[in-house]
Amino acid sequence: MNSNELLEARQEIIRVSRELHEIGLLVRTWGNISSRVDEDHFLITPSGIRYEDLTPEMIVLVNINDLSYESDVKPSSELKVHAAAYKVRPDAEFIVHTHQVFASCAGTLGQKKIFSYFDDEDVVIPVAAYALPGTEKLAENVARCLKKYKDANGIIMANHGTLCLGADAREAVFEAEKMETACNDFLIDVCKTDMTHGVECGYNSHLEDGQIVFDQKDTPERVKQIHQHIYAKRPDVSYIIHNKAEAVLTVSRRANHMKPLLDDFAQLIGVGVKIPNNDDELYHNIKKSVNVVFSQNDGAYCLGSNEDDALAVAMVLDKGCIAYMAVMRNGEGHYLSLLECIKMNRHYRKSYSKLADIKK
Ligand SMILES: [Zn+2]
Repeated sequence: MNSNELLEARQEIIRVSRELHEIGLLVRTWGNISSRVDEDHFLITPSGIRYEDLTPEMIVLVNINDLSYESDVKPSSELKVHAAAYKVRPDAEFIVHTHQVFASCAGTLGQKKIFSYFDDEDVVIPVAAYALPGTEKLAENVARCLKKYKDANGIIMANHGTLCLGADAREAVFEAEKMETACNDFLIDVCKTDMTHGVECGYNSHLEDGQIVFDQKDTPERVKQIHQHIYAKRPDVSYIIHNKAEAVLTVSRRANHMKPLLDDFAQLIGVGVKIPNNDDELYHNIKKSVNVVFSQNDGAYCLGSNEDDALAVAMVLDKGCIAYMAVMRNGEGHYLSLLECIKMNRHYRKSYSKLADIKK
């Protein structure tokens, strides 16, 4: 590829990332996209930069064989997975890795394949075995799955997300969309109810010069007290989103305790969340290391140092609750081990505080 072609390939990755961002399959900095350049190289999106902010020079050229790169920008932490996929699948020219809601949730049930349908045709989606993000083991598991199911253009990475590939960008994007629709239908079958996702705000608040400002004037006294307790116990919190999305409400009504079923839950929320039976228990559940406080029958408060962080927690909680409901209905699922959750939570906090330092 000459330099003009390389620039075009970089621009295409940005175009596709915006497209996937617009249709909601890629959010924030989660997921990553790559394209094959030649036998030994691929281009990949960087680590920790929002899709809206990408410029061509941020797309990193990586060697498939030794993962080396010449760039000041760090490539995505999942570059091992992409390299492994290009090695076992010579037909792959473009790869999209997402944390899309329904496919990720379908990958928590402990099943090796997901059976569904799309456009009246049967769809079988293989699920690659779980391993911690960023590890060699995860790359191996994905490669093994892609090799075994040579005809599959998309697989689910258990408890994490998806990997979709194609002979070009269009094929890979189509696969991600198809998979989300098929997995939505699959979850509707499992849960015997319609599936929506997103964040539904109840009573939010934030701190302004040390004072609590409530978004809604009619915030009830009881709710105000909960917010006050959270700010008092968590000096690191400046924004609270009261998430009353359907799945979060359901969990707040029916569950006692949530353990992580998805990597991002362990990273952003914590290694476990209790659902209280009364306000005493609710206050007791406000903990330093847990960014969600459930309210009995009333959704959950999602905590952040700013609006953006609180929103990230709210989105990850909604997805985690959909997975939780699916596992409950299914009767079995694959939970992450406590050790894996602790590792991920620590790693995330460490890299996040580093990132915050850089931004300062
Ligand atoms: Zn990922």
